[in-house]
Amino acid sequence: MKRKIKVSTLQKAITKEHNKGKSVGFVPTMGALHEGHMSLIKMAREQCDVVVCSIFVNPTQFNEKSDLKKYPRTLKQDMAMLIEEGTDYLFHPSVDEIYPDGEDISVEIDLNGLDRQMEGAFRPGHFEGVVQVVHRLLDIVKPDKLFMGQKDFQQFTIIQNMIDQLKMPVDLVVCPIMREEDGLAMSSRNRRLDPDIRKKAGILNKSLKWIKKNMDELTPAQASKEAINKMTIPGFKPEYVTIINGKTLKPIRSFESHDYVVVCTAVWAGEVRLIDNLILKK
Ligand code: AMP
Repeated sequence: MKRKIKVSTLQKAITKEHNKGKSVGFVPTMGALHEGHMSLIKMAREQCDVVVCSIFVNPTQFNEKSDLKKYPRTLKQDMAMLIEEGTDYLFHPSVDEIYPDGEDISVEIDLNGLDRQMEGAFRPGHFEGVVQVVHRLLDIVKPDKLFMGQKDFQQFTIIQNMIDQLKMPVDLVVCPIMREEDGLAMSSRNRRLDPDIRKKAGILNKSLKWIKKNMDELTPAQASKEAINKMTIPGFKPEYVTIINGKTLKPIRSFESHDYVVVCTAVWAGEVRLIDNLILKK
């Protein structure tokens, strides 16, 4: 695996690959890699000739500076995992390389409210930061395919919207959520969970699955309320359980009038904020 830190050296290497007729798959991450990330790398490996992974903890998407500071950084271990999976290039830039003219570059697109609910409502400015960094990374890497996880449902929907609006020449491939045995969605943040809290964290997925099983007898409002009750156990504080139309991300009032329905949640598990989602209907 070749490790690139400078934008110009990575760009030269990728141009060479493109000139040889190779397709390029790109997996952007913030590091502290786990099996969820590796499933994206595997998918990229299957679908593309060359796999590029970036590790960049993007400061502009953290609305809480303490969250940015506490974000786990495990570069050595990450590199070993990437090599093991046959990644061709690791792009691990500095903040200055990504934002040479300062952090205030924003991407001019109208997200049509997609960025205002759920994560957008609870983490103001988060999606502006995500759009800004993914746009910049795509501009640098110029991949044929971009691989993202369903784990961040609102994120990939917004990025697909950006790609469509700006007519960017890249295909977005969404990969399923990888989970631990008890159903907890894998996340870099999980390693910060207190052991007692970790033991109980399967309750998130269990509550979402409960909705899927019982949705025929409930309205979305009743289902959300019941899931919030289920997750309100000592140490856990649900922020939202929202049942949405998977395309518009708008909360729905009835299950019957939508074909694509997803439940999304964010829950404080001790000091750590976890997110998860489940497709209820598609
Ligand atoms: P992050 O490093 O958290 O920014 O995540 C990088 C990419 O990995 C994003 O596209 C995430 O959606 C994806 N990802 C994170 N956790 C998982 C998971 N448990 N299963 C599948 N993909 C994931």
